[in-house]
Amino acid sequence: MCGIVGYIGPRDATPIILNGLKRLEYRGYDSAGLAVISEGQLEVRKDAGKLSQLIDLVDKSPVNGAPGIGHTRWATHGAPSARNAHPHLGQTKRVVVVQNGIVENFLELKDELGAEGVEFQSDTDTETIVHLVERYLGTGLGLVEAARRTFNQIQGANVVVLMSADEPDKIVTARIGNAGGVVIGLGEDENYLASDTPAIMEHTRTVIFLESHQMAVVTRQEVRIETLDGVEVQPQAHTVSWDPVSAEKGEYRHFMQKEIHEQVQSVTDTLAGRVDFVHGEIRLPDLKLTKELANKIEKIYITACGTAAYAGMVGKYLIEKIARLPVEVVIASEFRYSDPIVDDKTAVLAISQSGETADTLAAMEEGRRKGATVWSIVNALGSQAMRIADGYISMQTGPEIGVASTKAFTAPLVDQYMLAILLADLRGVIEANKRRELVADLRLMPDIVGRTLERESEAERVARVLKDVRDCLYLGRGLNMPIAYE
Ligand code: GLU
Repeated sequence: MCGIVGYIGPRDATPIILNGLKRLEYRGYDSAGLAVISEGQLEVRKDAGKLSQLIDLVDKSPVNGAPGIGHTRWATHGAPSARNAHPHLGQTKRVVVVQNGIVENFLELKDELGAEGVEFQSDTDTETIVHLVERYLGTGLGLVEAARRTFNQIQGANVVVLMSADEPDKIVTARIGNAGGVVIGLGEDENYLASDTPAIMEHTRTVIFLESHQMAVVTRQEVRIETLDGVEVQPQAHTVSWDPVSAEKGEYRHFMQKEIHEQVQSVTDTLAGRVDFVHGEIRLPDLKLTKELANKIEKIYITACGTAAYAGMVGKYLIEKIARLPVEVVIASEFRYSDPIVDDKTAVLAISQSGETADTLAAMEEGRRKGATVWSIVNALGSQAMRIADGYISMQTGPEIGVASTKAFTAPLVDQYMLAILLADLRGVIEANKRRELVADLRLMPDIVGRTLERESEAERVARVLKDVRDCLYLGRGLNMPIAYE
């Protein structure tokens, strides 16, 4: 995972890119770089280390121009160093590339290019992309066509962004395979692109999400989207409602601390509009769960990775206990390989903060292939896991920037509690009184979370002891077992 930002328009791209990268630093933090087109030339600045190193470098050696692209790296191929940092220039120094993901056939491509006399400047898989593009440009093709041929030659689940000093009127990007997101932000005589919405939210709320196997040609005035096979796609613009200040650190020392404290708000937002306290009922319209479907389902698979899977283990307790339906939790990376017993009486519930976790998406597809009803609990609006599901519950927590999950762990607990009550109600396995009691309990949640957070100094005392401890056992039983894992 890495962070990418791009800008095309009349303004200087450098500050826009650096600010955008700051919002994406959680996605990659071993090196960072940017490239802009300045007076007909490509100017690149990049360095190892945190984004602040790049900012210092740009301070010392300023660079202005547009369009521009930037990247914070999370190294997979080649050490985290200045030479391996993105963007990567081609041999002509007229084309530049950044990538999120892995070019899986890069060894093969590298051998091929090496045999043609290409000299590599880095140890990354990414550099093969720019040389392939240059190879096609050399045959007389334009940037878009050269890029398309290259995208079709690359294997892997990745996002690529390209720019050429010879065609400074455009940025070309593609989402090859399933993973990684590309969001294109629409402005007035300017456009943006990024791996994730927080990077561009201060500039625009109107966005287009690129689907896998699609490429986009972004100019100042328009965004043209095509499949990698060249079939034109009508772009669909969405309005993102997140408040941009919620992606700022504010008075907190770091995003994780801020997001811990946002849990009162996120739990409240998660409940908002979904709980009818008067009648003691739950409403989850986006899930599209009918009485008929609730009664048809005989089993639920919850599938997710890491923290989201622990949240799913809590969901198993809640759904089995309240709705009396058997639930199995399977780590998403194993789901496909475990030949799960899935049919049209099964629901597969995927949980993902980003909605782009590759293994989770693959598990959803496996569920779909076997005829299951596919649901998701997702935070990032418009993400793949939201779009490919039959129904979804959005977490409503706003962006989670901290690497260790906080509010995106607690929100799905509440979502699954609501799901359990709704399933129980539609299946007729819960007394009205009991249901009203459970629903009434939800009203207390934000307050309990708030009072817990007031005890921060106690948590800090415990943390001071634990930080120097070498081995530590976390114990929990029942509902608290997954909490101990988390
Ligand atoms: N595989 C690429 C590299 O290591 C990109 C990694 C990333 O997504 O940041 O350079």
